[in-house]
Amino acid sequence: MSDTKHNWTKEEILEIYNKPLMELLYEAATVHRVNHDPNVVQVSTLLSIKTGGCSEDCGYCPQAARYHTNIEGNDLMTVPQVKAQALRAKASGSSRVCMGAAWRNVKDGDEFDAVLEMVRTINKLDMEVCCTLGMITENQAQRLAEAGLYAYNYNLDSSEEYYKEVISTRGYQDRLDTIDNVRKTNVTVCSGGIIGMGENIEDRAGMLVALSTLNPQPESTPINALVAVEGTPLEDEKPVSIWEMIRMVATTRIVMPETQVRLSAGRTQMSREGQAMCFFAGANSIFAGDKLLTTPNPDVNEDMKMFELLGLNPQKPFTKKVQPQTVEATDSEFESLGEKPKWTRPEHKIERNELAKEKGKLIK
Ligand code: SF4
Repeated sequence: MSDTKHNWTKEEILEIYNKPLMELLYEAATVHRVNHDPNVVQVSTLLSIKTGGCSEDCGYCPQAARYHTNIEGNDLMTVPQVKAQALRAKASGSSRVCMGAAWRNVKDGDEFDAVLEMVRTINKLDMEVCCTLGMITENQAQRLAEAGLYAYNYNLDSSEEYYKEVISTRGYQDRLDTIDNVRKTNVTVCSGGIIGMGENIEDRAGMLVALSTLNPQPESTPINALVAVEGTPLEDEKPVSIWEMIRMVATTRIVMPETQVRLSAGRTQMSREGQAMCFFAGANSIFAGDKLLTTPNPDVNEDMKMFELLGLNPQKPFTKKVQPQTVEATDSEFESLGEKPKWTRPEHKIERNELAKEKGKLIK
């Protein structure tokens, strides 16, 4: 049985985060070596299967319809398009494809049926499949599991307190409810957050309390550094320093020893040396591909050169957990219930989100 600690307090996490850097790095690297092969890094490809036009107001997101940004939206991709992209990702060393759709939540119907077919198709390519589709119900989670989904991503984004300063169109508990629905299946949980949104260190610790006290802890945790996109409410936030990123990665590694910690958005702003320190501090996963949904990401060849330089190897698929079986749609034991997840709509307004929305209206 795992002896992972699930009752971390904010004070304990802050004490870790604020340690002298060399001590923090040494402790994180030690935890990392006990729980993982330090020379293996998992590589995921993030594929935006439906871009833009989202009804939510996430302050960091250029895909929110209410803000005016220069991203190009697209309707849901087709199954053959997704298969072609997955094959390309596999050929370039990715073990996982993460499909992202800019939806508040999953709605039963033709589009969700198409996503289920995409999951079946990628699982049959012997790649791990992850989806990030917004809120889902238990039945939807079961149907994804049956199709062969390996992981479901739903980030907590920040601490519960600071979350209210970033998103007003659904509550923190809605996110936890979706994670809970995923946990009722054998699909693994991927959940993390973003630093550099104007939060303080207490908020970063608060987010790690929320993630590390989940039992079991998420199998993977993306740590994103905000990429401030013009037109979004957070467009003026300054980039986080590499030292903050290293501290965040190291602290995550210590409080979530078995989790795969993923360097996600913001990697283009990091030098190779900076990324190497993050790997030393316990990061053992990256997103590959020249785009992360809509923001830039290092080129795959650049990443492979970095792996060679550092003596790192890409992780093989299904190293941590066996490949799920795919059940065909015709043999499914779950029906489409025509349901939508219930969510709360907190009654507060976020001034900077409202301002960005007004600015968006004027430009449009
Ligand atoms: S983060 Fe997701 S839910 Fe929020 S606006 Fe962007 S696409 Fe929509």
